[in-house]
Amino acid sequence: MSEKLLTDTELNVRETFERISAAAEKAGRDPSEIRLMAVTKTVAPEKINEAIKSGCDLLGENRVQELLEKYESYNKSAEIHFIGRLQTNKVKYIVDKVTMIESVDSIKLAEEIEKRCSKIGKIMDILLEVNIAGEESKGGFSPEEIPSVSEKIRDFPHLRLRGLMTIGRFGAEIEETRQYFEKMRHLLVDIKTKNIDNIYINILSMGMSGDYELAVSEGATIVRVGRGLFGERKYV
Ligand SMILES: *Cc1c(COP(=O)(O)O)cnc(C)c1O
Repeated sequence: MSEKLLTDTELNVRETFERISAAAEKAGRDPSEIRLMAVTKTVAPEKINEAIKSGCDLLGENRVQELLEKYESYNKSAEIHFIGRLQTNKVKYIVDKVTMIESVDSIKLAEEIEKRCSKIGKIMDILLEVNIAGEESKGGFSPEEIPSVSEKIRDFPHLRLRGLMTIGRFGAEIEETRQYFEKMRHLLVDIKTKNIDNIYINILSMGMSGDYELAVSEGATIVRVGRGLFGERKYV
């Protein structure tokens, strides 16, 4: 009997899916509501393709330059979401390559995405990034701004608001993080009730390697995992 040896990445993907399912069931949620995103920064395309082969159908890209360099090497069966700081002058390079921009953090950026998507006749799914801990160093809208911004997005025919994303606060204790995730869930319900055309607003992207199970228990529908799948990042 021969059994194929799995690579570290394949094992990690398998284990992460199992932990997501267990956390979902514990919270009384259907595990199929939650998508695992493989966060690709600094990771070689071969490893990313291993994750795709093991069932990961969603990639998260932080940097435009890195996305452009690696894009052609990716197995095209996975979707790509953009999750990093996005300068308006770079939007034009990615609108044809990603299916969602999760890190919309200003109206100016929304305007640019609208302009570029209207040029190529595409409707882009977007999430609003929330600076949930009110950190000065971080981008994103304050929770208080979210209701008015979500209404403003309706003025852009080539943008489809799908929900909210947050990074949380690095170094926060578990209870603090849990409260941020809970606040995010309430914010999503809030904009869903206020928006007339709300049928698409159902995505909550939160939770990373250290806290994705907690995020699942608080309602995440996308968890973004990098180190938990690919190991510690080596910056060169
Ligand atoms: C790097 C990154 C992640 C993943 O972080 P890990 O700790 O490696 O899981 C998730 N979201 C964003 C926006 C990131 O930049």
